[in-house]
Amino acid sequence: MSEEKPVRHLLGLSGGKDSAALAIYLRDKIPEMEYFFADTGAELPETLEFVDLMEDYLGKPITRLNSGRGFDYYLKLNGNFLPTARSRWCTTNLKLKPFENFVGDDPVISYVAIRADEQYRTGYISTKPNIKAVYPFKEDGKNKEDIVAILDESGLGMPKYYDWRSRSGCYFCFYQRKIEWIGLHENHPDFFEKAREFELYHKNLGRNHTWSESESLDEMLARKDEIKAKFEELNPNKKNTSLLGAILDDDDDDEGCLVCFK
Ligand code: SF4
Repeated sequence: MSEEKPVRHLLGLSGGKDSAALAIYLRDKIPEMEYFFADTGAELPETLEFVDLMEDYLGKPITRLNSGRGFDYYLKLNGNFLPTARSRWCTTNLKLKPFENFVGDDPVISYVAIRADEQYRTGYISTKPNIKAVYPFKEDGKNKEDIVAILDESGLGMPKYYDWRSRSGCYFCFYQRKIEWIGLHENHPDFFEKAREFELYHKNLGRNHTWSESESLDEMLARKDEIKAKFEELNPNKKNTSLLGAILDDDDDDEGCLVCFK
């Protein structure tokens, strides 16, 4: 008679604040927890730094998935067509599949950092029958203020990109707002340039294929002052805080990528 496999407890860190807070929240409650981070190969240095910090804080290795097969590899496989909200091959290939490979056929409880104050979409969560998703923050009534408090009390605080961007994920993520693209240009001009080159590839082939649906990065950059002025007009408190991410987070449209951003 074959022995039953033990249940694995898995928590995926996205580099975002919610999954980090959940890892801290559960660290002593579930000592057998395994942590992982699906690295797309297009992560911000601030994200990677935060994941390293988490690893030290948790006192356990965080398994990095995807080694050697980052975004560029899958871009080629997808005919060099950039991912979009409607064609999210990036999430499937760089987040979901590596997670499912990591799990294999083992019975798994997957801890997901959806908060009590979120009406969150559940798409892009694995539907493999051996993976059971649980939502401790939702179950325990923990909201955004609780998450910020958990991070503050741990001493880790918010990830550094929060000064200019609300979410983790790829530097070129098509879900970022225009003010965040401007933030990318100001904080990581080399990454902005790389994102621009992806667009130029299509332009040189006579195609109009851009990260943002409404305009190219060149057009966006030409409107930089206008975008900033509009943002400041809509968010008069911005001048009192450097935490742009907090403002954008408050304005969260619940779009986006659960596995990339939480
Ligand atoms: S962060 Fe954005 S671009 Fe990167 S995998 Fe997620 S949805 Fe795709």
